[in-house]
Amino acid sequence: MFRESAWALLAIAFASGEARAKPISVLDGTRRRELTSESRGDADTVELVSLVQGLGVTVVSDPLTGKATLTCQGREVVLFHKKNLISVNGDLRLLSGPLLLESGRWYVPLDSLAKLLGPLLNQPISWRPAQRVLLIGNVRLPRVTVTTEVGADRARIVLQSTEKIPFQVRQGEGLVVVDMPVEAVEVAFQSERLTGGIVEAIEFRGGPDNTVAILLGPRFRGVRAQQLDEPSRMVLDIEAAPLATLPMPSASPTPAGAAPATEVRQRWSLRTVVIDPGHGGDEVGALGPTGTLEKDVTLAIGRKLRSALANRLGIQVFLTREGDQALSLDERAAIANNYKADVFLSIHANASRSQDARGSEVYFLSYHPTDDESRRVALAEGSLGTSSDPTAPGSDLALVLWDMAQADHLEESSALASRLQEALAGVTGSEGRGVKQAPFRVLVGATMAAVLLEVAFISHPEEEKLLVSDAYQNKVVTAIVDGIARYGRERAQRLDPRSVAWPSHR
Ligand SMILES: [Zn+2]
Repeated sequence: MFRESAWALLAIAFASGEARAKPISVLDGTRRRELTSESRGDADTVELVSLVQGLGVTVVSDPLTGKATLTCQGREVVLFHKKNLISVNGDLRLLSGPLLLESGRWYVPLDSLAKLLGPLLNQPISWRPAQRVLLIGNVRLPRVTVTTEVGADRARIVLQSTEKIPFQVRQGEGLVVVDMPVEAVEVAFQSERLTGGIVEAIEFRGGPDNTVAILLGPRFRGVRAQQLDEPSRMVLDIEAAPLATLPMPSASPTPAGAAPATEVRQRWSLRTVVIDPGHGGDEVGALGPTGTLEKDVTLAIGRKLRSALANRLGIQVFLTREGDQALSLDERAAIANNYKADVFLSIHANASRSQDARGSEVYFLSYHPTDDESRRVALAEGSLGTSSDPTAPGSDLALVLWDMAQADHLEESSALASRLQEALAGVTGSEGRGVKQAPFRVLVGATMAAVLLEVAFISHPEEEKLLVSDAYQNKVVTAIVDGIARYGRERAQRLDPRSVAWPSHR
């Protein structure tokens, strides 16, 4: 789909955003959720049950009296239909607009979200209308300042961030778009009069990529994009003077870590990768001989892999967990589905009773394990279970449907597993282990190419030491990026044999 034209996609996204109310993002420090908003009366609202999903809130609605009672850890908030007030542990508080009960669903005005959720969750809540982002808890966002200088025949636009951002620049009919594929940003515009017909307007359009759109004037002739570090910024030089050719970022000398060129991104069939650092929280995973925890190793590699994929291949990358928290196996694949990822990669470290076991293994899903070793690994990492009894726990209808989700992608998963195993073999000395199949629960629900990677044996004394070293982690990450790049290149050719452009990687 993406190979056709990034611009077609972009246009659709913007057009549909205008046809109905735009979605909102909810960030709680560990996860981002997108919720649809709906216009009710003259207010933009969100539906209550989807809003509080996963926040530990119980909703008891009483349509007859037009009341709903929300409870969370002993705190209680009562809502009233068509009233702009709520009862917080018995005290009445005013909202900016009325709550509505329609067809059994409650709708909360967006600008009342903080007043409703703050006392209920007992956490700082902040609603950012410009970005349509709801922040739950103390979430620190990168702050991006957009400054513009307009001269006689050129304009310079600088997006400068307080934290490193893998900016991506695209150009289309009448506009230049800068994507900031991070969880969320705060954007501030330094006001500047846009005269001279070079740039007409600069808008923050938000969305999953935190898109800034620069609408071009009739005198626009070309744009140069440069990504610079310290501080992290994207510098766009927009030329109004007639030029024979449009200098593109790829054609000009760019500093290390520069954003990939426009054309490359348009041809790129891999747009989003979700990395799942295995285990987390109380669920520590396997244990090394000197006490190294699998959950720490997987998170360290996951973080490094995220920046390497973003920097080297310009891919949008999300982690299923940012810190040391527990997450169910089904949730992990659901996150990848939610982001519409093209690749899902669950990262683990292996453990064996045999002291000699070492090397890496790459798995994709099957009900039937390749061998006894694969069965053991699947059991250790969370298996579907071997029972075929439909009444057994875990073999309900939902599970069968989930299974069908990954079943459609097994060919791609197998291709991805092969490329990763080839790339890793050189680093981890695992030529003999190869690609395997086993019934991993974490892969079952994934609706994209999905593999589970056992980077090395944490149970092996030497590999345990390697797994915690920066140098080895970087080598593994480089190999994974190589493997994904090769998979992506072949996949693009499968989808469109004419596509030849591909980002070279170091
Ligand atoms: Zn594991």
